Amino acid sequence: MQIHKYDTVIVGAGGAGMRAAIESTQRSRTAVLTKLYPTRSHTGAAQGGMCAALANVEEDNWEWHTFDTVKGGDYLVDQDAAEIMCKEAIDAVLDLEKMGLPFSRTPEGRIDQRRFGGHTRNHGEAAVRRSCYAADRTGHMILQTLFQNCVKHGVEFFNEFYVLDLLLNEGRTAGVVAYELATGEIHVFQAKSVVFASGGNGKFFKVTSNAHTLTGDGQAAVYRRGLPLEDMEFFQFHPTGIWRMGILLTEGARGEGGILRNKDGERFMERYAPTIKDLAPRDMVSRAIYTEIREGRGCGPDGDHVYLDLTHLPPEQLDAKLPDITEFARTYLGIEPYTDPIPIQPTAHYEMGGIPTNVEGEVLRNNTDIVPGLYAAGEVACVSVHGANRLGTNSLLDINVFGRRAGIAAAEYAHANDWTELPENPAALVEELLENLRTSDGTESIAQIRKEMQETMDANAMVYRTETTLKQAVADLAALKERYKNVSVQDKGKRYNTDLLEAVELGNLLDLAEVLAISALARNESRGGHYREDYPTRDDVNFMRHTMAYREVDADGKASIRLDYKPVVQTRYQPMERKY
Ligand SMILES: Cc1cc2nc3c(=O)[nH]c(=O)nc-3n(C[C@H](O)[C@H](O)[C@H](O)COP(=O)(O)OP(=O)(O)OC[C@H]3O[C@@H](n4cnc5c(N)ncnc54)[C@H](O)[C@@H]3O)c2cc1C
Repeated sequence: MQIHKYDTVIVGAGGAGMRAAIESTQRSRTAVLTKLYPTRSHTGAAQGGMCAALANVEEDNWEWHTFDTVKGGDYLVDQDAAEIMCKEAIDAVLDLEKMGLPFSRTPEGRIDQRRFGGHTRNHGEAAVRRSCYAADRTGHMILQTLFQNCVKHGVEFFNEFYVLDLLLNEGRTAGVVAYELATGEIHVFQAKSVVFASGGNGKFFKVTSNAHTLTGDGQAAVYRRGLPLEDMEFFQFHPTGIWRMGILLTEGARGEGGILRNKDGERFMERYAPTIKDLAPRDMVSRAIYTEIREGRGCGPDGDHVYLDLTHLPPEQLDAKLPDITEFARTYLGIEPYTDPIPIQPTAHYEMGGIPTNVEGEVLRNNTDIVPGLYAAGEVACVSVHGANRLGTNSLLDINVFGRRAGIAAAEYAHANDWTELPENPAALVEELLENLRTSDGTESIAQIRKEMQETMDANAMVYRTETTLKQAVADLAALKERYKNVSVQDKGKRYNTDLLEAVELGNLLDLAEVLAISALARNESRGGHYREDYPTRDDVNFMRHTMAYREVDADGKASIRLDYKPVVQTRYQPMERKY
């Protein structure tokens, strides 16, 4: 076991981690630990854009953006945090531009902007062009730009290091424990401050836009150390995944004028959101698609999808603005989007919940107190700027605004404080976990358990939920967790043992799926991405509050989930009915 000592450790080298690293490296001795090479992070898959009320192409301001974010999040958004994000959005985009990001431009040479779901002028009058973009490769450009700037600032990366545990000592942050893929060695990183920026956890669903690596390792690590997870029942289903595969086709396609149609060729969103139609927020569009399918207006022999129609758009526009996703349609479906509509269905996309933080990125241990030295930013965190439903392009914004804030705050904390002593046997938990998996003579297959987990999540905890389906998910997950104890790891070696890590990641996903299902079961209302058919309306009297899920272990070592609730911060906007 090797021990390293840094001021600040950042876990993850996606957009949030690298934005944090650029700040913290300039202020404190920083190490970035990442299980992937930085430029392989999921931020690089983001397509459509990053919003900011630049008003480059039409009238706009950050207050309208804040209102849209709060309404889009079905009023579960903490409004103080949304105000900060939408105000700082403008500088966040300009910072990236100065770092060298090649945004798509207007003919006059300004950063161009396009429409995206739920972004409106003057509190809902009409759709507004607010999303800055680089064709449909915005995330790729952000990730490359941030990486170049990390290199410029001499950020120290530890690539293919998997962080598997958080070290606390008497409630203060002491460091993390990581596993080095190349050698199988365990490394303890002692640090004054730690920033979790390890991304999302969408792989517990089968049909998903998420990469294979989005397994919620960060959320699972803090949760196992007794810290809460906030609002995990709010998972976003993006309306336009490629049929059966879930590969994302950006909302920017509808921002450029694409239309959703049912089997009769009808533009059905006119019935659900008469003002902004296909550009309604994602939760509403995903439900509308499933309603069309359930009522027999789905397309194809099984009636199990609808169409994204781009055929009325000029091919030059598709080539310039949506080159990647039109290529996806050709590659994965053999369809020519110039002339044929593309079969789509909703796909699991984004975790609104996560590790609770305040606006400085400090992690909360309960509704009011923080964990000294611990920070989180990006999809792993819940600030909460997305509430019950994130608006498109607000995540690339979130990772830049709150990544920057967390990086500064963590470095400043490291300046003002000394190292906390490492706990005794700091690597004990990780060593035991890995040893158990490596030496197990179990017979259960990792792939089979993962498949069954994804099947029950898709069937029971997706766009439509009821008490019955959620109870089914809870029961299935409990059974799978039992079987997981008997999982077999084929590769017994030390070097590049991805089999072992897949087993660890599956354990993380099972824990988090259970938190999602149990949090969802307790929320007897429908709000944003959480839709309960047995409680189809929003209930502000009983549920205008954030869920806080804690893992508790009893005297016999048996773990269970305790739910608590936290008030929503409201500043200027009173909850209203959500109509578009
Ligand atoms: C296909 C797709 C398209 C999207 N399009 C858009 C869009 O157009 N606009 C928008 O706003 N949002 C979009 N999103 C959402 C947005 O891209 C993500 O929410 C955001 O990029 C997440 O950034 P992040 O830095 O938090 O995490 P990621 O970019 O996922 O990075 C996570 C990092 O953590 C590291 N990591 C994870 N686990 C560990 C561990 N155990 N140990 C060490 N390191 C670890 C990984 O190596 C990686 O470097 C899209 C998402 C997807 C999936």
